[in-house]
Amino acid sequence: MNKSKIYLSSPHMGGNERKYIDKAFEENWIAPLGPNVSGFEEDIEKYLGEGVNVAALSSGTAALHLALILCGVERADEVLCQSLTFAASANPIIYQGATPVFIDSEEETLNISPEYLEKAIIDRIEKGKKPKAIIAVHLYGMPYKVDEIHAIAGKYDISVIEDSAEALGSTYRGQKCGTFGKYGILSFNGNKIITTSGGGALVTRDRKMKEKAIFLATQARDAAPHYQHSQIGYNYRLSNVSAGIGRGQMEVLDAHVLNRREMNEFYRELFSTVKEVKVLSEPENTYFCNHWLTVIKAENNGDFDTSALREHLEKYNIESRPLWKPMHLQPVFKDAPFYGNGVAAAAFESGLCLPSGSNLTEEEKNRIRTAIKDFL
Ligand SMILES: *Cc1c(COP(=O)(O)O)cnc(C)c1O
Repeated sequence: MNKSKIYLSSPHMGGNERKYIDKAFEENWIAPLGPNVSGFEEDIEKYLGEGVNVAALSSGTAALHLALILCGVERADEVLCQSLTFAASANPIIYQGATPVFIDSEEETLNISPEYLEKAIIDRIEKGKKPKAIIAVHLYGMPYKVDEIHAIAGKYDISVIEDSAEALGSTYRGQKCGTFGKYGILSFNGNKIITTSGGGALVTRDRKMKEKAIFLATQARDAAPHYQHSQIGYNYRLSNVSAGIGRGQMEVLDAHVLNRREMNEFYRELFSTVKEVKVLSEPENTYFCNHWLTVIKAENNGDFDTSALREHLEKYNIESRPLWKPMHLQPVFKDAPFYGNGVAAAAFESGLCLPSGSNLTEEEKNRIRTAIKDFL
């Protein structure tokens, strides 16, 4: 097969990225600060609305790490975390020396289950320790059950860190994902809906917390002419060159969301007659999903073999991938507590992510259609 590979999600430049990068070179702002960094932050603040403040960082993982620090998570604390997610959601809990407590998914959005979240909170409190934070994820761009999750968090007074790494452009009740939590995080990794080649951001309503995040992200330097430190710092700021790519990408974000939603529509049509397959979709019209990746799931345990479809697509040089393997099933987290009844594990067993890039051509779509039809 000598046809070029079709990827799940590949970088998609809009055209103006170079203009911002050239400006960085012209003005010699080749540093982790500069006009593109603050411009990119303002672009995102304007886009998200709600009066939020944004700190541009070197990755989404760095943003999660700083969010945990700002929530006061320390050694031996517990943090509740959605199990069905990318490892980057959970790893920063370990960076802080804290313990992740994993929570199963619900069926509708495949995100953190309100039922098991509350069960876990009650049980952890009974066992003597109230969890310090909740990490909830809008997986594949699908908003989690915002009303339910935030009601529970409010009832027990626990901060929510909203992992919106995959959900820039998604909304719930018309409000942008990333703006619901005490802290929200975004990722601009190469495979995300927009990219800076690598980067992320912390979102907060509290201007002081944005300043604190930037202070920690630039080695926690005290105000003094010499280098003085009274806290441990990090090197987590975004570079002015990367931020230039981000500025160009913000100009095409809405177009990317439309393209990804069109890809979802494409698959919905393709599988419309296959009753053993469900295409993950918005449960109600209060949800608006950017459909970063389109996810299909085999219904009723197995008449449809998604791993056979994956192997079939591979022969056509088309990439597809199982869903994230739940954290509670990962060797590295085998000792962490888990609350649930198997929804995340079943989704992992029976689900598949399909090529969803915003830059797929008609020819590539035809190749995908032919390959899937051939399998069906
Ligand atoms: C990509 C991703 C992250 C991490 O972002 P990076 O910028 O790659 O560090 C965190 N959580 C989820 C759900 C992600 O998909």
